[in-house]
This record gives sequence, structure tokens and C-alpha cells, in this order.
Amino acid sequence: MKTPRLLLLLGIAALVATFFALDLQFYLTLENLKAQQTGIAHYRQAHPVLAMALYATLYITVTALSLPGATILTLAGGAVFGLLWGTLIVSFASSIGATLAFLAARFLLRDWVKSRFSARLQAIDEGVSRDGAFYLFTLRLVPLFPFFMINLAMGLTPIKTRTFYWVSQVGMLAGTLVYVNAGTQLAKIDSLSGILSPALLGSFALLGVFPLGAKKMLELFKQRKIYADWPKPDRFDNNLIVIGAGAGGLVSAYIAAAVKAKVTLIEKHKMGGDCLNTGCVPSKALIRSAKLLSQIKRAPEFGIAKAGAEFDFATVMERVQQVIKTVAPHDSVERYTELGVEVIEGSAKIVSPWAVEVTTVDDVKTITGRAIVIAAGARPFVPPIPGLDTVDYLTSDNIWNLRELPKRLLVLGGGPIGCELTQTFARLGSQVTQVEMAPRLMLREDAEVSDIVQARFRAEGVDVRVNHTAKEFIVENGEHILLAEHEGQSVKIAFDKVLIAIGRAANVQGYGVEELGIALSPRNTLETNPFQQTNYPNIFAVGDVAGPYQFTHTAAHQAWYAAVNALFGHFKKFRTDYSVIPWSTFTDPEVARVGLNQQDAQAQNITYEVSTYGLDDLDRAIADGEAHGFVKVLTVPGKDKILGVTIVGEHAGDLLAEFVLAMKHGIGLNKILGTIHIYPTLAEANKYVAGVWKRNHAPRRVLEWLGRYHAWRRKV
Ligand SMILES: Cc1cc2nc3c(=O)[nH]c(=O)nc-3n(C[C@H](O)[C@H](O)[C@H](O)COP(=O)(O)OP(=O)(O)OC[C@H]3O[C@@H](n4cnc5c(N)ncnc54)[C@H](O)[C@@H]3O)c2cc1C
Repeated sequence: MKTPRLLLLLGIAALVATFFALDLQFYLTLENLKAQQTGIAHYRQAHPVLAMALYATLYITVTALSLPGATILTLAGGAVFGLLWGTLIVSFASSIGATLAFLAARFLLRDWVKSRFSARLQAIDEGVSRDGAFYLFTLRLVPLFPFFMINLAMGLTPIKTRTFYWVSQVGMLAGTLVYVNAGTQLAKIDSLSGILSPALLGSFALLGVFPLGAKKMLELFKQRKIYADWPKPDRFDNNLIVIGAGAGGLVSAYIAAAVKAKVTLIEKHKMGGDCLNTGCVPSKALIRSAKLLSQIKRAPEFGIAKAGAEFDFATVMERVQQVIKTVAPHDSVERYTELGVEVIEGSAKIVSPWAVEVTTVDDVKTITGRAIVIAAGARPFVPPIPGLDTVDYLTSDNIWNLRELPKRLLVLGGGPIGCELTQTFARLGSQVTQVEMAPRLMLREDAEVSDIVQARFRAEGVDVRVNHTAKEFIVENGEHILLAEHEGQSVKIAFDKVLIAIGRAANVQGYGVEELGIALSPRNTLETNPFQQTNYPNIFAVGDVAGPYQFTHTAAHQAWYAAVNALFGHFKKFRTDYSVIPWSTFTDPEVARVGLNQQDAQAQNITYEVSTYGLDDLDRAIADGEAHGFVKVLTVPGKDKILGVTIVGEHAGDLLAEFVLAMKHGIGLNKILGTIHIYPTLAEANKYVAGVWKRNHAPRRVLEWLGRYHAWRRKV
């Protein structure tokens, strides 16, 4: 524990101990208050201001330290200062004291709670961020909830201090009035329980739930209002209409058909969407060819004196198309029709919350559905850089049409797509310059990951330019030039072709989103709640169009929730579970991650321990000539619970699967260590990193004693 925290804890402990050591709680009883009432009243008459100050200080101290006696003190407020002044002082003193207790709990415990329960805390934090003031108000109004517990518990949530203070003060006012008023009649009170009658308690409870109830009503009202302008069909053609047949749309439709719902899937371009046609599949196919070339180049490392590769770039690109064709039946109209989905090849436009207009080559028709899933995907984001419109630029959409290898390729962007294609084209023989405005590639990963990838890229001949901001495209002497800014200087980079890979923008226009007023998030994706619902509760959105992740597996994951909530949400709705999201960037070495890395943990103030195993030590990696990279696991301090894993190395994405499973099902490093891993495999690295953790947590004392025991056994 850090020194300021320790000091505060010691200070609080000392004050609480003094309170009990001096038996001060016996002064804060009804009997004692009654006995001392006249004396206190005399003192108050003689020193009115001082009496108020002393009383307020005592009240603040008792509440700030969560000591017993606040109720008696409130009664005393009424007895000594009367209804008006008593209420005023108690209202401020109790709110100040509560806020101090709240701040102390936050300062002492919030980080600790965050680091230990980060996954579970997320939902609570989201709820508090959304409705925290309402919850607090309810808790404050209903005097059944212990005052001090609310202070401490709220300190562990992200509610703002200012909000906590004013909601507490307003929320406690009614209770304060009742107790202070009772204090003015002190002589008539025989017990504390008599102050609040069941009827009064009931009224408080009603008052307490009123704001939450009102909020729910408001939401219902808003929903009614949003649908008010749209005529609802008497009957529906479909239970579900799905727009877009990429990963998100295909899985939504599949699930609906699997549970025997009537579902229509509409795709305007190619079945399989981005992943199959212009994303994961072609990129991985091309990466494979490029990797083979790089391995051939490394032949002498493997004892093969000479190996050459002759290839035609166009043939390599044709193979990519062949791979797409081979995978395509998985996502085809035929397959989905067989599964029970009605597939329409046409363009969809939402014309009401229950109706979609479909334009095919033959006709235009409108179909209706009880619910709609929007899975319209994203497209490459093209920045408004002056001069770019005069360049025949490439994106991940059209790069697959190339049949001639660019001699000098400029790649704009140091994210996953930019990095994968940079290395691939460099390996295929292009002279690649990669430009990134951030100080390093793969900014979301820890710096050491970027260092490894950058070093490898440079070793393979890529001209990596970080801290370079693209400013303008010009033509000089017939040559394409990018003007970039680097440390205040203008830098010229000549190129033949440029690939724009600086992110992907959600498709949120041109199919009814604007007309219906479907809400957008600040990231310009369709805004969804945790159930994948848009502001129209029967319209759902999944995948790249909704975010926050842009992966095939997250689109499919969200699709399950959207389909189930759309079809069965009137019985029960399920929140999308984002607790364990893995991903991989398929550079060489691969970079795979699940959960937290160090930079995320630090940014979120989550304490952690790191266990790292270097793959340069792994038998199989050595035998394969791939002895580089690492497995890094972040765990809860003192425990084997996994917070996150980063793997850099050969087949990192495959290796990560064991940790994804472990995190999802709460399996710790001890259990991974206790599991047999086949020798010699790369997967052994997972066991070895668990071994690193174990060694760092070996019970040293016990081992010392064991050493002595064995020494003794050798002697007797
Ligand atoms: C180069 C590249 C490499 C990638 N590599 C990986 C990877 O290795 N792993 C990974 O997990 N992810 C990868 N991705 C990301 C992945 O491709 C996307 O996250 C995924 O395709 C998103 O699926 P989706 O269903 O949201 O959208 P999409 O696959 O884009 O599908 C949306 C579909 O909706 C259709 N559509 C849009 N509007 C309408 C309309 N009005 N009417 C009818 N149809 C419409 C579109 O034509 C499209 O087919 C990669 C992406 C790129 C570009």
C-alpha cells in the first residue's frame, strides 16, 4: 500500500480505536441524551455559535468515520437547536461527513476493488454511470439502508463526488426532518424504533422508488413517441429481417433459422461480406504466399544452401481469389437457403421500424418484420488529405484487384491492416514505406510489442516512418509524392501506389438510418445498448456498423445476442458479454491479445503482476527456427487469476486460445500449469509462463523448512 493511503488508514484506525477505547459510544445513547439535555441546552444558550460549530464538527466526525451514533446526534440536533437550525446543521454536517467517508473509501479501496473485480465491476460501473444518481437517491430516501454502508459502497463506484454530495443532501432531507423533529419532542421518545412508523417507512420507500419508476416511465414514453409516427403492420412477413450478409448478418440469420423463426437476409453485394471477400480471407491467403517466400529466403538458416523462388504476382493474386472461392460455399445463398433462411440479393432500405424496402435487379418490394438486425458493416476510411483525390489510391476493398506488383508502395497507417499488408507486400518484393503519425506501430499494444514488430519490418527492408503525419499528395516531375510532417519538418516520400489503411468507417448512411433517426454514437457507429438494441428497441445492430470492436468473431458474438434478444427479448434479454475479447494481428511475428495489457492496466489504475516467458527458450520454437517473441501474462497481485495475455511469436493467435478459455471460465495459471501439454509444441509456452508465475510465488519459507527436513533425513 502506498504511503498516503497507509497514513490515512492508520489515522482512521487510530480515531476509531480511540472512540471505542474511551467508550464514547455510551455517550451517544437516547438515555444519556435525555439526561444531558438540560446541561447541553444551557451551554448552547451561553455559547450559541461555538455550540453549533462543536456539534457540526462532532456530527461530521462521527459520520465520516462511520461510527455509531448519527441517529442520536440527529435527535440531539432537534432537541438542542430546534427544527429549523437542527435540520439545517444536520443536513450539511451529515452530507459533508458522508462525502468524507465516501472519499476515504474511494481513496483506500477503489483501485484494489478495480484490480480484483475488473470484469464484474464493468457492468456495475456502467449502471452507476447511467443511473447512479437515481440509485443513490432511492437508497438515501429509504432509511432502511444503513447510512454508512451507502457512503462506503458508493465510494467504490465511479459516481462523481459532486453528484454524491448533492443527491445525498437532497435524498436525506426528508429523513433528517423526521428525526430532527422527533428530537424537538425528545421527552416523549422512548425508543429509536418508534420514530419511524411503518406508514412513514412505506411513504419513504415509495418516494425512493419514485425517481426510478419515473425514469422507466419516461423511457417507455420515449419508446412510444419514437414509434408514434410509424404505422405498425397488423401482421408481419418475418420474425426477423437481417440487413447485410457479412459475419454479423450471417450469424444472426443462422440463429433465427435454427430456432425456426422466419428470417429474411438481404445482401446487396457479396455474400460473406468484408471478411470473405476483401478482409480476413484474402489477407490471410496473401500473407501465406508472402510467408513462404520469406521462408525460402531463409533456406540457409535451415541447412539448405540454396533455394530460389520464381513467381508471378498475378498468379499469387489469383490464388487469393481461388481461396475465396473455396471458402465461399460456407457463406453462400445455397447454404443459407438450405438452413431455412430466405436470402434476397438486393439492396435494403429501412422504411419504417417494421418494414424494409428491397431493391433487386428485377423489382422493388417491401417486406415487414417484427425485428430488424442491421449488419451493414464498415468501409475503409479515406481521410480528406489534399491531393489524395488525384491519386488512384488503394484500400482494402480494391487492393485484391492488383495484378501487377507496385514497385514502390506507400502504406498509410500503422494499425493491424496497415501492418499486415506492409509486411506482405514487402515480402512479395515491393519497396514499402509505412507512414504512421503516432510514435509507434500498433499503438494499442504495449510498446515492447511495437518495438519487436518495427524491428522485424525494418530488418525485412520496410522503411517505417513513425511520427510522420501525411499532409498533402503532389506530383513532381511526373512522380507521386507524399508530403509528410515529421518533427516540424516537411518530408517528401515518393511512391508508385498508395494504400490507405487508417481505419474503417461504419456504414450508417443511405439505407434509412437518417430518415428513421436511428441514433449514432460519438464514434459515428450505430448506437446500441448492452442488448444490441438501437434507439428503436426492435431494431438491432451488430458488427462493424455498431462497434466497438471490428472483428469477425466479435460481429458473430454480438449477432447471437441480437438474434436471441430480437426473437425472445419479450421473455428475457441478454447483455452482450464483452468480458473476454481476443484478437490477433497476423504479422510475422503474430501479435495476439486477450484482456488487459500493461498500458491498459496502467491507464485504468488496475494493479497487476507480470509473468513473461521468452519463446527463445522453447524447444519447439528453437527447432522450428522461430525462437523469438514472448508470452506475457498479467495476473491479479498474489493470485493466479488472469487479467490479460499478450503473445508475440509464431502462431500467437492459436496459442492464445488456451488463455481465452481460461479467462472465460475463471481458470487460473495453477490449473494451466497442472495440465499436460504435448512435447514439443509451441503450446508448451503457455505452461511455462504459468511456471514462471509459480516460481515467483513459491512459498519460500516452506521450501527453506523442507530443505532443513531433507538435510535432517540424510543424517538419520
Ligand atoms: C484487410 C482486412 C483484414 C481483416 N482481417 C481480419 C482478421 O484477420 N480477423 C478478424 O476477426 N477480422 C478481420 N477483419 C475485420 C472483419 O473483416 C470485419 O470485422 C467483419 O467483416 C465485420 O463483419 P460485419 O458483418 O459487421 O460487416 P461486413 O462483413 O462488412 O458485412 C456487411 C455487409 O452488409 C452489406 N450491406 C451494407 N448495406 C447494405 C444494404 N443497405 N442492403 C444490403 N446489404 C447491405 C454489405 O454489402 C456487406 O456485405 C479484417 C478486415 C479487413 C478490411
